This record gives sequence, structure tokens and C-alpha cells, in this order.
Amino acid sequence: VAPEALEGLRLVDHHCHSVVASVLSRPALEDLLSEGQGMRATGSNFDSFMGLSVRRWCAPVLGLDPGAPPEEYAERRADLGPAEVNRRLLGQAAVGTMLVDTGLGDPRLASMNDLAASAGSTVHEIVRLEVVAEQVAAAGSSGAGFADDFATALAQRLPGAVGLKSVLAYRHGLDVEPRAPGPAEVREAAGEWLAGLSASAGRPRLSHPVLLRHLIWEGLRTGLPLQVHCGYGDTDLDLLKADPAQLTGLIRATADLGTPIMLLHCYPFHRNAAYLAAVYPHVYFDVGFAVPWVSQAVATVLSEAMETAPFHKFLYSSDAYGLAELHYLGAKRFRQGLAQVLAGLSAEGWDDAETTRIATLVASANAERVYALQPAGINRPSLPSAARSGGSTPPRTPSAGSSSPAR
Ligand SMILES: [Zn+2]
Repeated sequence: VAPEALEGLRLVDHHCHSVVASVLSRPALEDLLSEGQGMRATGSNFDSFMGLSVRRWCAPVLGLDPGAPPEEYAERRADLGPAEVNRRLLGQAAVGTMLVDTGLGDPRLASMNDLAASAGSTVHEIVRLEVVAEQVAAAGSSGAGFADDFATALAQRLPGAVGLKSVLAYRHGLDVEPRAPGPAEVREAAGEWLAGLSASAGRPRLSHPVLLRHLIWEGLRTGLPLQVHCGYGDTDLDLLKADPAQLTGLIRATADLGTPIMLLHCYPFHRNAAYLAAVYPHVYFDVGFAVPWVSQAVATVLSEAMETAPFHKFLYSSDAYGLAELHYLGAKRFRQGLAQVLAGLSAEGWDDAETTRIATLVASANAERVYALQPAGINRPSLPSAARSGGSTPPRTPSAGSSSPAR
């Protein structure tokens, strides 16, 4: 399989974020090229595989020579303006469908409809459980009323969502007690959390392990696939507590529910995630964050991810956030790395029909099956699934325009 052969491969990006819709200064641009904080104090964030990829591959999309210096790149980006930059780079990414985590409260990000229009993609929402709980707290819930208030708020969000997400790794670590907490435990925990909030008067941030577990179980009971952040992240994270192997107890305890658990990112624990996906029927995984960031080394990471996992358990995501460059490079590197992995199978005598089947599974078909999506390009609402209590809604599509009643 030659890399060119996968250039037209249809992609479903099952976990990504929106892009910044305002002009970015050079420092703001650089900050989005790192998960760290204050990294520019010690050197440029362009001084990495990712930075070189932006200069080498994104510069020509913006009309610059390949390898343009960072200063020139930042200037050109500002001159073109965010709408044009996003339209060009998202268009070149050629991703058919994006599942967008809307749980980040970054006011710079484009709306779902604007993202869909810029990309020419179908866009669906992934709802963050902790954000829903924090909104319930901010609206003035009580210890006794929290469980019901959360259930009501979550039910209101389900019609617009194709999946849910937990950031347990950030808020506590994945090493939680597996079982679902009982009503009395939830009442007591909610009382403690809400009392602490009213004392501090800060923005609610849920980190109580009992409530985090309650959210996960409630999420899984909806039947919608639950994305769980694993592995690499920003400085809020204790990396060792983000190893997906730490989730084994919860995975075992939830096996009977059968709701898909989607292990996100997983790098550098992607082999641990591959093992979990290989032995538990309801577990799936990706190497989203790593795909654009490891750049030309992507084939190594994809090989490590796919070496033990069934092909029907591995998905594409970019985990792109803020920069359209990350959407473009994610798609480009994934197609490139997958072509290299599949070339190894071709060399062993597997024909194009077999390698194309595998490519299609990981690029789009697994996501379409697990999230019950219609294949991209077919503009019609997805059908309600008997496995879901939340129902489904028409996707946002670029052709539907900004007056789309999708929400
Ligand atoms: Zn993400």
C-alpha cells in the first residue's frame, strides 16, 4: 500500500476539539503547540517534530514556501485571518465526520456550526460528564437533590450527543474503586462537595472520587459510548495515574452493561490500551494525541497500537485543539502512518482488498458502528438505536447552513 493510496481515505475523527476563531499572536500560536505552561521561557515550541511539521506541511497550505520560519508563518496566519486559515487547513484535512468534545470552556473556539462550515465536515457533539455536574452545582443543587438534578441535566443533553466523556484521569486518577456508589454515598459526597464550593465561592470543579464514579456509571447506563481520557495531557495530570491499565477494575465491573468504553490518546501507554481492547469486548482505543505530535514517527506508534489489538477495536482521532494545523496534520500523519503499517502486510502477500478493509475499519467504519453514525457524506439523521435510551439527532452538516436546527 503506497501512501498515495490512502490519500482519499475517508476519516471519522472520533475525538477532537474546535479551533480558535480569532487572530492568534505569535506567543498565543506557540502556546497551542504545547500541552505545557510557560514553555516559551526555555525555547520555541516550534523547535519540535510538531513545529517542523507545521512549517514543512502547513506553510504551503497558507501559500508560503515549505519550511517557512516561525515568524513568517505567524505573520502569514494573521494576515490571512482565522476564517481563511481554518477553511484552508480543515479543508485539506478532508475529514468526513468529527466528534467534538465541547467541554472546554475556551471562549476563543469556533461554534460547532462554524467548525462544520469551515471544514466541510459533519460534526457531532461529545458531552463531558464533569461539566454537566459542575453546571448542576453552579445552578444551586443540594446534597439530597444532586443525583436527580444531574440525571435531569444529562438527559437534557443526550438528544444532541453521540457520546459522553470523562476526565477522571485529570480530576482524581484512573485508579478509582470500580463499583457504582449507592444513593446514600452519592448524597453524602454531593453534600460535602457542594458545601466546600459555597465556602470557597470559586467556579465549581468536581474532583470528589465518589461523584466522579457516579457520573461514569450514570453515563454508561445511557448506552452512549463513554470516552475516557488516558495518557498524555497537560500539567493538571499525574501521568502515572492516567495509565489505562489503572482502569481495569472499572472495565471488569462494567462489562455486563456492554456500553463501549473508548480509551482516548493512551500514549505512551498505548500498548496497555491495546491489551485491554484485545481482551474486553466493550473496550476500544485510539492514539489520538500522538498522531499529529509524533509526526513522521507515526508509523511506529500505529504499529505498536495495532500489533496486539483487533482491527475492529482501534479508531482514528486527532485530539486536535485550537489550531486547524493539528486537524490537518492529524489526518495527514494518520493516513501516512497507516499506509506504512499496511505496506508491511502487503509485503507479506496480503492483497489490496484485505488491506483496504483494515484501513476502512480503523479510519471510519469502527467509529460509525460504535457511535451509530451514518457514513459521512450521506446527509440524513441517524436512526434511533434500541441499545440507547438517549435517542439520536440529525448531525450538523455544512450544507445545512448556520440556521440548521440541529441543536
Ligand atoms: Zn481531547
